[in-house]
Amino acid sequence: MLKRFSRRLLSTQTLDSIKEKKLIRTSPFINGVFLGEGNEIFPVFNPYNQSLLANVTSTTTDDILFAFKNTADAFPEFSRTTARSRASILRNLNDALLSHADDLAKLITLENGKPLADSLGEVKYAASFFEWFSEEATRLNGFIIPSASSEKRIAAYRKPIGPVGILTPWNFPLAMITRKLGAAIAAGCTSVIKPATETPLTALAFAQICKDVGVPSGVVNIVPVSENRVKEVGKQFCESSELRKISFTGSTEVGKILMAQCATKIKKLSMELGGNAPFIVCKDADIEKAVDGLIAAKFRSSGQTCVCVNRIFVEKDIHDEFVSLLIQKLKKSTRLGPGMDPTVSHGPLIHKKALKKVKYLVEDAVSKGSKILLGGNHRVDLGKTFYDLTILDNVNTDMDIYHNEIFGPVASIVTVENIQEAISLANNTDVGLAGYVFSKNYDKCMSISEEMDVGMVGINTGLISEAALPFGGVKQSGFGREGSIFGIDEYTIVKSVVVGM
Ligand code: ADP
Repeated sequence: MLKRFSRRLLSTQTLDSIKEKKLIRTSPFINGVFLGEGNEIFPVFNPYNQSLLANVTSTTTDDILFAFKNTADAFPEFSRTTARSRASILRNLNDALLSHADDLAKLITLENGKPLADSLGEVKYAASFFEWFSEEATRLNGFIIPSASSEKRIAAYRKPIGPVGILTPWNFPLAMITRKLGAAIAAGCTSVIKPATETPLTALAFAQICKDVGVPSGVVNIVPVSENRVKEVGKQFCESSELRKISFTGSTEVGKILMAQCATKIKKLSMELGGNAPFIVCKDADIEKAVDGLIAAKFRSSGQTCVCVNRIFVEKDIHDEFVSLLIQKLKKSTRLGPGMDPTVSHGPLIHKKALKKVKYLVEDAVSKGSKILLGGNHRVDLGKTFYDLTILDNVNTDMDIYHNEIFGPVASIVTVENIQEAISLANNTDVGLAGYVFSKNYDKCMSISEEMDVGMVGINTGLISEAALPFGGVKQSGFGREGSIFGIDEYTIVKSVVVGM
C-alpha cells in the first residue's frame, strides 16, 4: 500500500509541486527584504514521510533585534496612515491570498500534513480575516464623554498600541498569522512574526505576498527560528522594549512562561491557549446531526486544532444508537493517507512526538478500563505518523485522556446519567475554550450553553470558526478575543483628551 502511494504521489510530495516558484522562500523577511542564507539552518520535514522539504535559515539573535528596531522605526509613519489606506492593504492581501490559494494550500499540506481540501479551506479562512479587518479598520470609532464640569469636554479615541510580536503554532500555518495580523494592520500596528519551527514555509510564502502587494517595509517581518532557539527568542520577544504587545497561540504551558516574561515590561498580551472541549449529546438530540457535528469537531485536521472535541458526554439512553452511527459514518466516509492525495480525508499527525502522545493516551485509557470501538492502532502501514481514527468508550476521570488535550484523532466517550452530570463534568477542568451541545430543544441548548464554562459554544453544529466569531477562551485557555468586532481592540489603546473650554 505504502509503495503504491509513494510511486503515485512521490512527485507531489516535494516543493516541486508549487507552481509559483517565488513563493518558495527559506530565509527571514525583515524590512521588506529576504535576508541571505545564514550559517544556521534548520530542516522542515513533510509529516507524511519525514522527507526533507527545505532547509530554512534560522534568524540570528542580532537579526531578531534588527527586526524589532526596524518594526519600531516603521511604526510612527504606519500608525499615521489613514484607516482607508490600511483597509486597502488588507483588501489587497485578501485578494492575493485567494489568487495564490492552490500553491498556499499545497505548502500547508506539505509541511503540516492536513488534506488538500482542508488546506484550501484554511487559505480561504485565512484570507477572510483580511477581508473582515479591511471592513473593521474604518470603523475604529471613539467617544465624546460628558464631563463632570460644564467647562470641559472629554474625547476618548483608539490608537494603535505599537509594534507587536506575533507567535504562532503549526496547526494553522497561515490562518493563525492572518487572524492576528489582520487586526494589527487594521489598527495601525507594525509586527514581527515568529512562525512555528515545523511550518515556516507557508509563513515565508506569505512574506513574499506582502512584498508583492506592497505592504510598506517593516510593517510585516517574519523571523523563523530553529527549535533549539525558540525559548531564547520567545524571551527576546517578551523582554523587548520595542514591542508593546505579544499575541500568542499555543499551549497553556508556554503561555504561562510568556506571561511571566512579559511582566518585565508590563506588556499587553493576548493568549489563545489549549482547551479540553466538552461535547454534550442530549437524549433528545438529532443523532445524525450530532454524529456529523462530532466528526467535524473531533476529527478535522486529525484532531489537531485547539477547538477539537476532547470529551464526549452522551446521555445513557442514546449511547448505543449514537456510537453505532458514529462507527458506521467514520468507516464509510473517511480515508486516512497522505494529504496531497485528493481522495484522502484525514492526514498524518504532525510528528512522531505527537503520535507517541496519542498512543500513550489510548494505552493508558485502555489499561484503566476503556474499550476501543474503532481503530486504536498506529498505522505503520501508512507511515510513521499515522494513527487510526479511533473511538474509545467507557472513558472516565481516572484516565489521562480525560484531562489532557489529545491533539489527535481519538474520540473519548463518557456515558452520563443526565445532563446535569454532563455539565458538571464538562466544567470540572482548568481550561475552557470551545464547547458543543446537541439537542432539538433550543431552550435547553441555550441554558446548557450558558452554564458551560467556555469561551465559545456550538449549538447543534461542530464547526464554529469564522472571521465574525469572537474567538477565545476562559480560565487557563487564555484571554483576549480574535476576529469579530472585538479583535481589533486587542491592538489598540484608548487615549483620552480633556479639553478645557
Ligand atoms: P504546540 O504543542 O502546539 O507546538 P507550543 O505552545 O509548544 O504548542 O508551541 C506554539 C508556538 O510557541 C510555536 O511557535 C513554538 O515554537 C512556540 N514556543 C514554544 N515554546 C516557546 C517559548 N518558551 N517561548 C516562546 N515561544 C515558544
